[in-house]
Amino acid sequence: MPASIDPALRDALLARIRFYRELGLMEFYRRPIEVSESSSVPEPALSPSKGLESETLESTEEGKPIPRKPSSTVHQSEADSLADRASALQLIRDDIGDCTRCALHKGRNKIVFADGSPSARLMFVGEGPGADEDAQGLPFVGRAGQLLNNMINAMGLKREEVYIANVVKCRPPGNRTPEPEEANTCSPFLFRQIDVVRPEVIVALGATAATYLLGARQPLAGLRGRVHSFRNSKLIVTYHPAYLLRDPRQKKEAWADLQIAMRELGLKAPMRS
Ligand code: SF4
Repeated sequence: MPASIDPALRDALLARIRFYRELGLMEFYRRPIEVSESSSVPEPALSPSKGLESETLESTEEGKPIPRKPSSTVHQSEADSLADRASALQLIRDDIGDCTRCALHKGRNKIVFADGSPSARLMFVGEGPGADEDAQGLPFVGRAGQLLNNMINAMGLKREEVYIANVVKCRPPGNRTPEPEEANTCSPFLFRQIDVVRPEVIVALGATAATYLLGARQPLAGLRGRVHSFRNSKLIVTYHPAYLLRDPRQKKEAWADLQIAMRELGLKAPMRS
């Protein structure tokens, strides 16, 4: 007689399987990661504020994943570093204060600074807070945030192991794209956060994040499928989760981008078909 399954657990498992299927994860693991020639694009036309280079993705030896630094073992020196980074991030938050440096302060409820580990190896950068984020003061907590959480989990990570921030820290009215003056005023805080966290890999979520991290406005399609570099981190561009909610067919493409991030981090796939 089959053991009974908790209905809530069953529904959660079915939802997870559906999500993996939508990502194209099952199909993806049947073949190695490929980066076609057509995915290469010219170098960005503008230089960013500091240290931008762009490099094409180099192939790595398949089947020889780089050992992952164990996140659960924290040595004393790492703990000191963690404390230092947390303090440094708090200084940045203190510097922001009750910010009125750009017009976005007029409509906000809460400044959305960041969420996650100060010593994360992987950082996600989005565009700006939405309604849920503005209400809670945390990035990516609405429907798009739930999808981002699923994407992080699909990589074999937990949300608390990564660092999440946005280009602007106050919600643009009606969730419009931040104006260049607003993004240019706020993004130096993001750059300081990146300098403190020093992630090995940054994933830019959507065109706005890619534009202000890479210093040039280019079609997202031309920036995906490559490893860029920014402030000593590798930078990978993919779709914003809010866009993926509107067009779920692109989830498979987003998963291909996350696979590049995983390879750069030496992460093994959490499951195989
Ligand atoms: S978006 Fe950034 S610069 Fe503008 S008011 Fe908010 S914290 Fe200040």
